[in-house]
Amino acid sequence: MFYWVKTPNWVSKIWPSLIWQMPAKRGDVYISFDDGPHPTVTPWVLKTLENYQAKASFFCIGDNVIKYPSVFQQVLAAGHTIGNHTYRHYNAWHVSKQQYVKDIQEAEILINSELFRPPYGKISPWLANSILRQTNVKKIVMWTVLSADFDTEISSEQVVNNVMNNVQPGSIIVFHDSEKAFPHLQKALPALLQHCQKMDWICKAL
Ligand SMILES: [Zn+2]
Repeated sequence: MFYWVKTPNWVSKIWPSLIWQMPAKRGDVYISFDDGPHPTVTPWVLKTLENYQAKASFFCIGDNVIKYPSVFQQVLAAGHTIGNHTYRHYNAWHVSKQQYVKDIQEAEILINSELFRPPYGKISPWLANSILRQTNVKKIVMWTVLSADFDTEISSEQVVNNVMNNVQPGSIIVFHDSEKAFPHLQKALPALLQHCQKMDWICKAL
């Protein structure tokens, strides 16, 4: 499986309309979670964030919001930011632009947010333009550091290293509140939160 753990600078330069990182000035770090809400993983994430007084951003799948509405409400009640991650977790390369935009519109009935993150990070300039024109999305949020917590072929130590070796103030870090990522997440999230605390960085929602 190929992916960049740290987004190369040239990628963010040719894609200035997408958000790859935040200003580094104040020492803030932006943790994000994709693919929830999930009935057990998301509550664990909420509790862990609370232990460190950390805020984060949750890019939710519409279908999961319908399945687990009370978990979704817990995310909102805890003061985190939510974002749209489509209704059916479409891969943009596999469906038409029209179908993809319609899926985001379906999700935004449930997820009231101006933030959007494309599943699998798949997006094209013309698709981005359609999304910004035809939906409530104002910001398409990518990431600085991919934890790769979804990769079951690497060790949890590797996931911890992916995050710890690349996180800096202003970084947007991606985790997943999903079943598949949970074993890695249980190691990597507390490690990151401890590191931020030690460095005096503040974990903020987007
Ligand atoms: Zn996803």
